[in-house]
Amino acid sequence: MKKEFLIMMTLALSYSTPIFSTEIPGKPTVVSAEAANASSKSAEVRALEMLKNIVLDNSAFMRIHTTPYGDRKDNSYFERQTDQHPRSTVLACSDSRFHEGAIDLTPFGDDFVVRNIGNQFGTSQGSTEYGVGGTEAPLLIIIGHDKCGAVTAATLGLKGLPEGALRTELELVRKSLELEGEGGDFQAHPHLTPEQELEVQKNIIKNIHAQVRLAYEKFADRIKAKKLMIVGALYDFLAECPAPL
Ligand SMILES: [Zn+2]
Repeated sequence: MKKEFLIMMTLALSYSTPIFSTEIPGKPTVVSAEAANASSKSAEVRALEMLKNIVLDNSAFMRIHTTPYGDRKDNSYFERQTDQHPRSTVLACSDSRFHEGAIDLTPFGDDFVVRNIGNQFGTSQGSTEYGVGGTEAPLLIIIGHDKCGAVTAATLGLKGLPEGALRTELELVRKSLELEGEGGDFQAHPHLTPEQELEVQKNIIKNIHAQVRLAYEKFADRIKAKKLMIVGALYDFLAECPAPL
């Protein structure tokens, strides 16, 4: 395999402090007063508040893009959105701390985005294939990130996790990391030891390499024809992961 297709990048390090520390899926740790207040409200109340925010944000977005000249409506922005020609396919983890806005200040129309836990090519292969072959975007960028809960769970083991779609996706992450069997019980480790932290950090990078390798094998013909470049990237927002190889 050619080395240029395994390039690793460290993206913006100046990301703001996250409200939640989600080292283990389903076990968020409250680390701010804002989050503490939020957690005292019912899920229904919080959901309605978030929905109100979404509606207000969408209204503001529509205003920005339809009233460039006083009150005169101009729908040209939306009329230009009838087709898509993205510059890249982005395969990233679903983690809310990463957003394509971190790598693209104007992501509308630029990125064909595919996301799942652990940024697995196998979980969303069809969607990724469409981004690459359907839209013909010349770049596929696969992005993992610091503090990835999926890689943490896969590293520590899936013992005790019931059968189901979540376990199936995490089993695929373990397979990407070349880990045998189900391993230990990640739910028994709400706080990682320094050794476990280091192992997870190394596996975050190992996982990115594994996904690039899988995508390379799938799209070898397109790469050889110089129609596609694949890049692996690390969103290391806490600057904790070891230097990429
Ligand atoms: Zn993640």
